[in-house]
This record gives sequence, structure tokens and C-alpha cells, in this order.
Amino acid sequence: MKNKEFASWLKERKEPGYRLGQFKRAFYQDLVLGWDQLTTYPKVLREAAADRFAWDELEVADEKTDPADGTYKVLFACRDGSKIESVLMRHETGRNTVCVSCQVGCPMGCAFCATGKLGLKRNLTADEIVEQVIHMARILKKEDAHVTNVVYMGMGEPFNNYDAVMESIRALNDPDGFGLGARHMTVSTCGIVPGISKFADEDLQVNLAISLHAPTDAIRNKIMPVNKAYPLEKLMAAVGEYTVKTNRKVLFEYLMLEGVNDSLDCAEDLADLMEQNKRLYQVNLIKYHSTGGYEASDQQTRQEFMDLLKRRGIKVTFRVSFGEEIDAACGQLAAKGKTV
Ligand code: SF4
Repeated sequence: MKNKEFASWLKERKEPGYRLGQFKRAFYQDLVLGWDQLTTYPKVLREAAADRFAWDELEVADEKTDPADGTYKVLFACRDGSKIESVLMRHETGRNTVCVSCQVGCPMGCAFCATGKLGLKRNLTADEIVEQVIHMARILKKEDAHVTNVVYMGMGEPFNNYDAVMESIRALNDPDGFGLGARHMTVSTCGIVPGISKFADEDLQVNLAISLHAPTDAIRNKIMPVNKAYPLEKLMAAVGEYTVKTNRKVLFEYLMLEGVNDSLDCAEDLADLMEQNKRLYQVNLIKYHSTGGYEASDQQTRQEFMDLLKRRGIKVTFRVSFGEEIDAACGQLAAKGKTV
């Protein structure tokens, strides 16, 4: 992590202790764009730092804004040429949510997901994850706005890159750095059980979301290969333990796929799963944006599915779609047409 390496470098040079704080303020809070703008440093120190450390790990390779809702998607080039995507969603309520990627591609192979088709190229570093947020914060700063939420729901499976993800969360949460409240961050996993167990023991109040997408092993095995390693019984047991340890809510993401997981029988099965902890479990139904192979459920099917869950007393929401026109919606991040 830049902070750590940079801190040791400052120490080696016997710089005063406040130099790290000056750097953090400039980078995470003032959002300045380069070493030359770190004006609290003497010129000689700025130049020595610039020789040793890059200010930014990521470069913007392409960017698009959805004219309908202002959703902004960036294709970043990493220093090794890998491409990753991040999305900024602007909510009417004033919230500004950044969806970050944590891997280049993804090895999990979910059948409905554009990223899954790419396979895994490599894990991102904590710096590369954090800088996706910093870039969005710089964009928002021009509008006198700021990042209010971060979701680890872009390319990749966060618990397959556990240490870097946690390091990035701590850097974003650091009150002397970016200062984003832990409760404003959400990590979403496709169901890596050991990751959920480890996450339950963290001392941070970060939210957990589960990409569930199917209420039975038979259906989940077909669309999410992870279910063969961690079937629903194991997954729900791990989530149950998480809630016992943390007493925190868990969001279950559920993409509505026509003829696959959207029948009323599926809704009953889903309600059975959620009944394990009605107080803390919540379902978030998501409109699917076709990336080939599957179609989205129609509105009436979605409504009936939702009504049944509500009748069973399950907390359920329907996710408003962002960025459909620019392929920034769930399952659509694929660094399209570029080498990743
Ligand atoms: S849905 Fe998530 S875990 Fe599954 S392949 Fe896509 S990025 Fe990976």
C-alpha cells in the first residue's frame, strides 16, 4: 500500500512525522493531481518522492456518461496495461455510490455475467482499488459533491482477493485519509464461505451482500459454479454465523432471469431461505441486463415474485437500474472490446 511504503521511505529519510499526514491530506482529502501539487512539501522532497513513487496507479483509457441518469463509467488502464472498470452512480437522494473492481476479470464463471466470461488475469492491489474511488471523488469535487458509498460489486470476487480488499477498506476508512464510514461500504461475494467466516471476525462495520441469484442448489449449480464448492446449506450457515457475530443486516442480491429463477415456486423457496433470519435478511431484486444467453424477467413476473415475498413477511426491494445505456449495470462490466 502506498501509505505503508511511503511511510517507511519517509522514515528512512528521517523526515519529520507530520510529512505522512501532509501527504494523506493532499492525496485523499484535497484530491490534488500530482506530486508537484503537494505544496506543503519542500521542492526537494517532492522531487525525491516523485522519482520513487507514482502519484496515480491508474490512467483513464475511456469514459462514458449515461445521458439518462448521469451514471459515469470509466475504463482504467493499470500500469501493466490491464484494463478494469468502475462506475459512479448518482442517486436522486444525493448519494454518490462508486462500484469498484477488485480483480482483472474473474475466475468464478457465473453464467449470466460478462466479467465471468473473461476469466481471471490477476488480483488488483489495494492502491488500484482505492484509486478507483479517488478518481470518482476528483470528478465529484468539480460538482461540489463527494463519494458517499463504495460497493465492491464491480469486476472480480472480493473474497478471492481478501487481503488487498481489506487493506483498501482500511485506507478508505482511515479518518486521516479518505475518511469514509465503514457502514457506507459494502462487500459483495458470490458465496465464498471461508471469506464470509473471516469477514465476520473483522473489526470493521462494513456491510455484507451475497450474490444469491437462485433459491435452490439445482438452479444455483447451473448458473453459479461456486455453488458446487459451497452449496446453499453451507453458504446460509456461514451467513447465519456472520449475523450471530456481527448482528448486522445482510443483503441478498437476486437477478431476475426469465424462466430460470423467477417462478412463484422460486419465490417460495427464496422466502424459506430468508425465514432463517427475517430480522436481518433482506432481498434485493435486480433487473437483468442481457449480456447474451439469458433474458430479463418481465415486469409482471417481477411484481408477483416481489408480492409473494412481501406476503411471507420478507424484506424486499427492487434495485433501480443505473447506466443501462453504457453497459454499466450489474453483470455488464467487461472492459468491452479491450484487452484485459
Ligand atoms: S457475478 Fe461476480 S463472481 Fe460471478 S463471474 Fe461475475 S464478477 Fe465474478
